[in-house]
Amino acid sequence: MHEITLCQRALELIEQQARQHGARRVTGVWLKIGAFSCVERSALAFCFELVCRDTLAEGCELNIEQQEAECWCHHCQRYVTLLSARVRRCPDCLSDTLRIAADDGLQIKRLEIE
Ligand SMILES: [Zn+2]
Repeated sequence: MHEITLCQRALELIEQQARQHGARRVTGVWLKIGAFSCVERSALAFCFELVCRDTLAEGCELNIEQQEAECWCHHCQRYVTLLSARVRRCPDCLSDTLRIAADDGLQIKRLEIE
């Protein structure tokens, strides 16, 4: 499952950072999902709670933000925001010659530690 792998990788980074700061516990995590990552918010939240069991981040508050699907349109010569990451066409000129500008992974935006 895609989400589990992402969560495990995120948790590794979170624990690493928390230890560097001498944290006893991670109380809050802010994640940002890439627009083209095909990650379901609810699945991500579920998996995250699962991988956090028996770690520093157990029971932490999870905040998930979804990144906008931003692309460069060669036809319009400007950045456009897609209505959906699944429909890869410029909303203005309907061209499909788009270059994806947004990140497609999972980012850790902020941590709250104790
Ligand atoms: Zn366009």
